[in-house]
Amino acid sequence: MKAVEEGRGALGDWLEAQPHNFYDADPLLQILVREGGIGDRIETLEALGAEAAGPLDAAVIENNRPGNLPSLETFDGIGRHVAGIAHHPSYHRAGKFIYESGVMAAYAEIPNPHPLILSLFYLSAHVGEGGHNCPLACTAGLIRALQALGTEEQKAAWLPGLLTPVYGDHLVGAQFLTEVQGGSDVGANATVAERRVDGSWRIVGEKWFCSSADADLFVVTARPEGAAAGTAGLGLFLVPRDLDGEPNAFVLRRLKDKLGTRSMVTAEIDFEEAYAEQLGPLEDGFRNTMELVIDTSRLYNAFGCAALAHRAYLVARGYAEHRRAFGETIASYPLVKETLSMTRADAEAALAGSFWLARIQQRVDSGEAADDEVAFLRMGLNLNKVRTAQLSHDAVNRGIEILGGNGTIETFSVLPRLLRDNVVFENWEGTHHTLRMQAFKDAVRFGVHEGFFAVLEGRLGRDRLRGDRRAFEQCLEQRDTLLLRRVCDRLGSWIHLAELESIDDPGIRARAELTTTRHLSADPIRDGYRDLVERCAS
Ligand SMILES: Cc1cc2nc3c(=O)[nH]c(=O)nc-3n(C[C@H](O)[C@H](O)[C@H](O)COP(=O)(O)OP(=O)(O)OC[C@H]3O[C@@H](n4cnc5c(N)ncnc54)[C@H](O)[C@@H]3O)c2cc1C
Repeated sequence: MKAVEEGRGALGDWLEAQPHNFYDADPLLQILVREGGIGDRIETLEALGAEAAGPLDAAVIENNRPGNLPSLETFDGIGRHVAGIAHHPSYHRAGKFIYESGVMAAYAEIPNPHPLILSLFYLSAHVGEGGHNCPLACTAGLIRALQALGTEEQKAAWLPGLLTPVYGDHLVGAQFLTEVQGGSDVGANATVAERRVDGSWRIVGEKWFCSSADADLFVVTARPEGAAAGTAGLGLFLVPRDLDGEPNAFVLRRLKDKLGTRSMVTAEIDFEEAYAEQLGPLEDGFRNTMELVIDTSRLYNAFGCAALAHRAYLVARGYAEHRRAFGETIASYPLVKETLSMTRADAEAALAGSFWLARIQQRVDSGEAADDEVAFLRMGLNLNKVRTAQLSHDAVNRGIEILGGNGTIETFSVLPRLLRDNVVFENWEGTHHTLRMQAFKDAVRFGVHEGFFAVLEGRLGRDRLRGDRRAFEQCLEQRDTLLLRRVCDRLGSWIHLAELESIDDPGIRARAELTTTRHLSADPIRDGYRDLVERCAS
């Protein structure tokens, strides 16, 4: 019995030793915050860091228990159509911590303070998607689109509610592009917009993946009648959930039964002549959707993945320090040490690269960025989204590995849920291939790779990037996308390394070296690779 008590006691010690503040437990974030010009916001970050490691985490765990997940309430008690969603009280407890941190309210500052906002988001994403973190990304994109494109009436109607930090008074956004016939191929959208005589619009069609489906205001892509096929003919529209207290003309067909992000509602929605307003010029609809809405979400996605990876590291490190096997704590075994170092290195790489992009986004917004930086951001956002999601997938998986069999148990730690969330993070806001292909197409059409490499070479030197630049340019010259996975993944790691190597900290430097050894040592062009791929398919 003594052995059993000791074993369970060690697990209790592990739980006790978990960080009480995710900001204090993150030396890299502290450095980035201090050096990134937001050192005066540390109090705000520390406050959310403590909540996220305590009551916010507990609320999200409770919300994800079977029976507490959201459900569809199509009609109210007396049969009126309400298109509603019922949430467990723990959902609202979690939301109060997140929104009242001021994360959305900070968008009132112009230019938007991306490093601050995304650091807050990173802290809240340590609990996983948590029911609110996807809606935050959607709301951020909506706010930025309204700030850039909204009429004075639209801004006055919506921005105060979207920017208030008061939970309950606040408004939430959503973004609906995907239809059943295609998500990556947004140009295949069949939803139409019909103009009304008063200049407003009617939206008719089906949206297949609608996250944050209980939002107050949706941004929707739709094709005005008679507009061109493909993305060129897509307009961007605002669709309010309610009109004078009644639901707008749409039906929540059903909620998706998802692998991950389960406490956040994703629905299929039929728009049945729903009232809509045009947002920005019709002919720029797709460009505005990508630059203001989707690019915003892609950076949120990357910070979210960095957070999942860092949480996995914290859980696993504590476990390894307390769990004993073969007479030793497992943290003393070289293979465990290596696993923890890899996990930490991947978490740091994801955060450092994403933080760099957030700083550049702020420079671009304020008009201070050079053309090369604008191009770097455009290509970097896509490559970074892919790479961070891959790293966090591996990091969470490795965290589970350190916990052994216990790692697979939903009630034992948050890691199984984080892994499931991560799979969703890898797919929404653009799949890996879609993002690689977008980098490729942007390079073919606009030559964005020139500015991208100029910025990266400025940080890392030409020699180190020579092989990857050659490989990427070879893809372009030959219009051949087979090598893109390998090249783009390496370019994602180079983005991370450029930022990591600028940080004067021996541990971070060592882990940056580990990243180089693991992800960047071999030349991406390998003789016989095409043959190998062919042979694999036979
Ligand atoms: C939980 C969840 C919530 C979501 N919420 C929303 C939302 O709120 N709003 C919204 O608009 N969308 C949402 N989505 C949809 C998401 O953005 C799409 O699933 C995603 O863009 C991929 O589209 P698809 O599923 O149609 O896959 P497809 O486009 O059919 O892709 C299938 C596969 O083909 C690959 N592929 C496609 N084109 C190419 C190519 N040219 N070269 C190589 N490979 C290619 C893809 O990478 C993928 O592996 C959500 C998805 C999930 C899972």
